[in-house]
Amino acid sequence: MSAPAKAKQKDNQKHAKTIISMLADLGLETTPNNYQLFYSFVADKNPSLAKELRSLIADKSLDQDMCDKLHKKYFCGVDMVDQTLQTGGKFSEEINAVLRMLAAAERNAVEYEKTLSGATDILEHASGDTPLKDMVDTLLAATTKMNEHTADLERKLNQTTAEVNTLRENLEKVRTEAMTDALTGIANRKRFDEYILQQCNSAEHSNENLSLILCDIDHFKRFNDTWGHQTGDQIIRFVASCLQRYASKAHLVARYGGEEFAVIMPDTDEKTAFDLADNIRASVESKKLLRKSTNEDMGTVTISLGVAQYESNDSIEELIERADEALYRSKHAGRNKVSLSSTEKAGRSAA
Ligand code: GH3
Ligand code: MG
Ligand code: MG
Repeated sequence: MSAPAKAKQKDNQKHAKTIISMLADLGLETTPNNYQLFYSFVADKNPSLAKELRSLIADKSLDQDMCDKLHKKYFCGVDMVDQTLQTGGKFSEEINAVLRMLAAAERNAVEYEKTLSGATDILEHASGDTPLKDMVDTLLAATTKMNEHTADLERKLNQTTAEVNTLRENLEKVRTEAMTDALTGIANRKRFDEYILQQCNSAEHSNENLSLILCDIDHFKRFNDTWGHQTGDQIIRFVASCLQRYASKAHLVARYGGEEFAVIMPDTDEKTAFDLADNIRASVESKKLLRKSTNEDMGTVTISLGVAQYESNDSIEELIERADEALYRSKHAGRNKVSLSSTEKAGRSAA
């Protein structure tokens, strides 16, 4: 390439950069017509167009419609082929093909770049030196740059999305940890409070059954006194695992207090809940306990349970209170028993 041609290409590339960034700033697409309009502006080809553009930009009233109008006005409503022909240029059939391709190019930048690459190829083989070849070259360089920028943005977006996902997972972990009892690994009181509120609301609206089991280890103080607090902890873990084993996915087993537990059972009537509670009771009682540290036989541990079913218009407190009263009856009836809240009203003990 000759020295003046090189300088001209350099100019064109500089212009292209300015044009692309101006169009982007103004929220306009890099279409051939917009490019032509701004090329004329940047390269100072038409003072009255430049004046009009400058004032529209200053007024912030330059939109695509206005660009189309200006293009029509300053380029006489004829396409680039006609205009170039009018100005006396010598264009081959190949250039017409290039311009048709450009006109057909979608606003999609990738497609646009492909179109420009094709256009350059045709122009490479076209006879004679043309200003359009330079223009297509600079457009291609600018579009490639724009695509790189888009790819870069996309990479950054993907990276940010991955970071947001990790953050979300970490938050979920923290939330789960905050709702889990550290000693037993089952739900803690906070989770219990959240789930019972949710399930009471749902039972009230759907009219479906909801049962609650409350459970307390019998004579637990004695275990602590005899075997120490750590062994007491081991027993708490053992009872939690028994409860967990009998619970289904929809049930929530929670550590309600020190050595007290609760099972929230959606879609379950009190009879079914009572049977499940009694299975848990029997399973706890059946296990011979060995002290972990010394392998000493600690005998067995038993639990007392109370069962209540949600009744329409119940408050959470009322439901818990009924289950607690039933549990109290189990204790009074000699422990290692299950009592149903509703049988209290009927004056019978289900234990
Ligand atoms: P009852 O059959 O009437 O329930 O008798 P109890 O001895 O079990 O009486 P209560 O339920 O009032 O006793 C609770 C005891 O549980 C008191 C407390 O020292 C003990 N405790 C509470 N939380 C823990 C814990 O996290 N670890 C241990 N080892 N003991 C606990
Ligand atoms: Mg207790
Ligand atoms: Mg107890």
